[in-house]
Amino acid sequence: MIKPLTRASSRTFQTWGRTHRCAPVALHLPESEAEVVALVKEVGRRGQTLRVVGAGHSWTDIACTDGHLLRLERLNRVLRIDRENGLVVAEAGISLRELVCHLSDFGLALPSLGSIAEQTLAGAISTGTHGSGATVGNLSSLVESLRLVTGRGEVVEASREHHPDVFAAARVGLGCLGVITQVTMRCVPIFNLHERCWTLPFDEALRQMQTLADTHEFIKFWWLPHTDRIQVFAADRTSAPETCPALTRRADKLGMITPVFRSILWLGGHFSPAIPTLNRLVCLGYFGQRERVERSDGVFNLAMPPRHLEAEFAFAREDGPAAFEQLRAWVEWEQLRVNFIGELRFVAADDIWMSPAYGRDACHIGAYCGRSAHAPQYFAGLEAIAARMGARPHWGKMFGWEGAELRRVFERFDDFCALRDELDPDRVFENAFSRRVFG
Ligand SMILES: Cc1cc2nc3c(=O)[nH]c(=O)nc-3n(C[C@H](O)[C@H](O)[C@H](O)COP(=O)(O)OP(=O)(O)OC[C@H]3O[C@@H](n4cnc5c(N)ncnc54)[C@H](O)[C@@H]3O)c2cc1C
Repeated sequence: MIKPLTRASSRTFQTWGRTHRCAPVALHLPESEAEVVALVKEVGRRGQTLRVVGAGHSWTDIACTDGHLLRLERLNRVLRIDRENGLVVAEAGISLRELVCHLSDFGLALPSLGSIAEQTLAGAISTGTHGSGATVGNLSSLVESLRLVTGRGEVVEASREHHPDVFAAARVGLGCLGVITQVTMRCVPIFNLHERCWTLPFDEALRQMQTLADTHEFIKFWWLPHTDRIQVFAADRTSAPETCPALTRRADKLGMITPVFRSILWLGGHFSPAIPTLNRLVCLGYFGQRERVERSDGVFNLAMPPRHLEAEFAFAREDGPAAFEQLRAWVEWEQLRVNFIGELRFVAADDIWMSPAYGRDACHIGAYCGRSAHAPQYFAGLEAIAARMGARPHWGKMFGWEGAELRRVFERFDDFCALRDELDPDRVFENAFSRRVFG
C-alpha cells in the first residue's frame, strides 16, 4: 500500500515564480533509494503517475503533477569525496548551496554555478542549469555518473562506460526518464575569482562580446531595457586573497541588489509609464565600474532576486549578439515597458541529448520582467526571434513551444523519445508538461 508521508493540507505545490500550482494526490518524502523503488513500482502497478520536484525553482510546470509528488529532501547527503580525482558523490535531493558548502570544507568547489544555489542537484541538472563562460559547460556536463530509478522500478547506474545512452539522456532528463537518486559530479580545487565590471554602449558591447568571451573565463552581460548601456561582468581565476570579508559582502548584496530590483519591479508594476525613467536611474546608480576578489561561489551567486518571470533561449554562439539586438528592437518597436534586466550568457557545447547546448557552443539570452500587461508580448518577441534563428528553450523557463517546434531544434529529440519508451513504457512519470512536449 502507498502511505503518503504528509497531511493533505501540505500537499499543494506552487513554483517559486507562482507561475503554476498543482494539488498532487499525495506527497512522499522517501529516505532511501529502496523506498523510491517501492513507490515507483506501486504507482506503476496502480496505473497512476508520479513526478519528482526539486526546489520548485522552474518557471515552467515541468515538476507539477496531479498524481504522486516526490520530494527528495531526506536524500540530501554527501556520500563520498574523492579529492585526488576531483569527484563528489551526493544524493540527488541535496541543494547546490549545501553541496558547495560541503565541498568547501574539503577545499573543493564546483567549476561553475548559475545565479542562485537554492536548486536541488538533480533538479538543476534535469533542466540544464548553467552559469556563463565560453569554455564552461552547464552543470549537467559536470555529471560523471548517476543512479536512476526507471519507470519499471529498476535501478540503472549510468556513466560514459555503462548505459551510455541513458547517460546521454538522463543528465538533462526533464524528470521524464526516472527518479535520479545519486549523482557523481566533477569538482575542482576551491578558487577565487577576480571580477571586473564596467559598462559599454549597447552597440559597442555587441561588437566586443565574442572577443570578451574568448578573453575571460567567466563573462555575462546585463541590459536594462530603455537604456542604451550594457553592464559587463568578467571574472577570472586568481591566487589573490578575497578583498571583502563575508559579512560586508552579504550586507552589500542584501543592501544593494535586492532592494534596488524589488523597487523597480514594484514601482514598474504599479506605474508602468515610469519604467523607462526608473531603468535609466538604476543604470546610472548601479551599473558601472567596480572590481573585487571573492571565492568563486560568491561571484557566481547573487542575492535571491524578487519574484519575477523569466524566458530564456540558447542561440548558436555566433547568433547571440544579433539576437540581443533584435530583442532590443522588439521592445522599441512594440513600445513595451520592461522593468527587469535582459541577460546574455555563454555556455560551452556538450553531448547531452536534450541540453540547450547540445552539439554547439551556445549564447543564452534571458528576458526577465515583473508581472505586467507587457510580459507576454515581450516573451513572445524573444520566442519569435528564437524560432527564426533555431534557438532552443531553457526547460525551466517560460516557453510556449510544443512537440513539433521542439523536435525541429533538438536533434536528438526522437532518440530521447525512444529511450523514454524503454525506461518508462507505462508513462509513470508523465505530467501535463511532458504531454505538451512529447505528445
Ligand atoms: C531566481 C532563479 C534564478 C535562476 N538562475 C538560473 C541560472 O542562473 N541559470 C540557469 O540555467 N537556470 C536558472 N534558474 C532556473 C533553475 O535553475 C532551473 O529551473 C532548475 O531546474 C530548478 O531546479 P529545482 O531543484 O528547483 O528543480 P524543479 O524546478 O523542482 O524541477 C526541475 C525538473 O527536475 C526534475 N527533477 C527534480 N529532481 C529530480 C530527481 N531526483 N530525479 C529526476 N528528476 C528530477 C523535475 O521533475 C523537473 O522536471 C533560476 C531559477 C530561479 C527561480
